[in-house]
Amino acid sequence: MPEQNQRTHYKIVIVGGGSAGISVAARLLRKSRDLNGKIAIVDFATKHYYQPLWTLAGAGAVSKDVTEREEAAVIPSGAIWVQDAVAEFSPGENAVITASRTKLYYDYLVVAAGIQIDWDKVKGLKESIGKHGVCSNYSYDYVDSTWDNIRHFKGGTAIFTNPNTPVKCGGAPQKIMYLADDYFRKSGVRSQSSIRFVSGGASIFGVKKYADALQKVIERKQIETQFKHNLIEIAGEKKQAVFENLNTNEQVVMPYDMIHVVPPMSAPDFIKHSPLAASDGWLDVDKYTLQHKRFANVFGVGDCTNLPTSKTGAAIRKQGPVVVQNLLSLISGKQVGSKYDGYTSCPLVTGYGKLILAEFDYDMNPKETFPFDQSRERRSMYWLKKEMLPLMYWKGMLKGTM
Ligand SMILES: Cc1cc2nc3c(=O)[nH]c(=O)nc-3n(C[C@H](O)[C@H](O)[C@H](O)COP(=O)(O)OP(=O)(O)OC[C@H]3O[C@@H](n4cnc5c(N)ncnc54)[C@H](O)[C@@H]3O)c2cc1C
Repeated sequence: MPEQNQRTHYKIVIVGGGSAGISVAARLLRKSRDLNGKIAIVDFATKHYYQPLWTLAGAGAVSKDVTEREEAAVIPSGAIWVQDAVAEFSPGENAVITASRTKLYYDYLVVAAGIQIDWDKVKGLKESIGKHGVCSNYSYDYVDSTWDNIRHFKGGTAIFTNPNTPVKCGGAPQKIMYLADDYFRKSGVRSQSSIRFVSGGASIFGVKKYADALQKVIERKQIETQFKHNLIEIAGEKKQAVFENLNTNEQVVMPYDMIHVVPPMSAPDFIKHSPLAASDGWLDVDKYTLQHKRFANVFGVGDCTNLPTSKTGAAIRKQGPVVVQNLLSLISGKQVGSKYDGYTSCPLVTGYGKLILAEFDYDMNPKETFPFDQSRERRSMYWLKKEMLPLMYWKGMLKGTM
């Protein structure tokens, strides 16, 4: 069991014990024995999730149970878990204030609180999710509803939405659609169905090389796409979705038989309303060093930051070492010199056993790992996502070794 206690000063406080917070804590403890017992991880959650597998759980390819661990089991030894939520930042006095009104002082702060899912920004969504053909992979609680809808689909219209806000894993809204198409073909209902990707964004993907490949997938699968249409309301009883046409501001009503919703997302409210936020609400960090732009002893990592790249666990795998290196440099009185280049990756599942592995940087240039064209759909890359990456996550990234 990790140590828990009521101390109120720590050398390093890490806010959030998700992918970013745990991997940074583990790496810090590996790199510096001095930090043993001096790092607090503040997180109220009792469970930790490997969210990238929710895409496959929603398609019935894995059980959602394999994505969940006890939070206590992932806290690295040498770190202290403070099981509470941070409610406020007080960077002027180097402190965070928790929901239970405890003030925790720090020398250095790492903010890794993830993204906020704004379920209530789509009218009727909270009331309908998990019912009336409405499902979402964006929550452990509802991911089974996606699989229920896909496997019981009898034909008709299946809509897959994508909001006009940043989301975690920009490719996930479409991956589940390709899997659904594949399943509908196997279950014999595809010829009686239409599949529509209705997105608040302007294109299928931001990097041309992968967008071209995905366009071919969409044509092959005969999927209809509609861009610049943002979901604003679900009328569950009537099985109707209301979208706003972002070019004309007109409302467009679309009937559906099933709808996979990706809700709008934003920075967590307690960051948005704090002195650490940029004008758009995200944690305001330097895009290369990940150091806060105004408070030098504060760093940010992962989905809660304003880094102009796609928010993924793969991005965190490259951000974590930069934060750790720069934090250790600062502690020993040196300049922060380590730089993050915006690397991120999106394993674009295009069917059961098929995957395009997109990897790119801040300039939207491909930054591929393997010596072959990763824009081709491959079985080997699907295996990498389903079998290898989860192992690398639990046994490597969360242990601070990769
Ligand atoms: C359906 C889906 C598919 C995805 N697919 C992929 C993929 O294929 N590849 C990939 O790399 N990534 C993928 N991702 C994205 C990836 O899971 C996230 O980018 C990653 O988990 C973000 O890590 P994080 O630490 O920033 O946030 P999280 O892992 O979400 O952790 C945030 C933590 O902060 C805690 N927290 C929040 N508020 C507070 C507070 N006030 N006080 C204290 N603690 C707080 C939370 O309890 C949580 O434990 C996917 C995500 C989803 C949902």
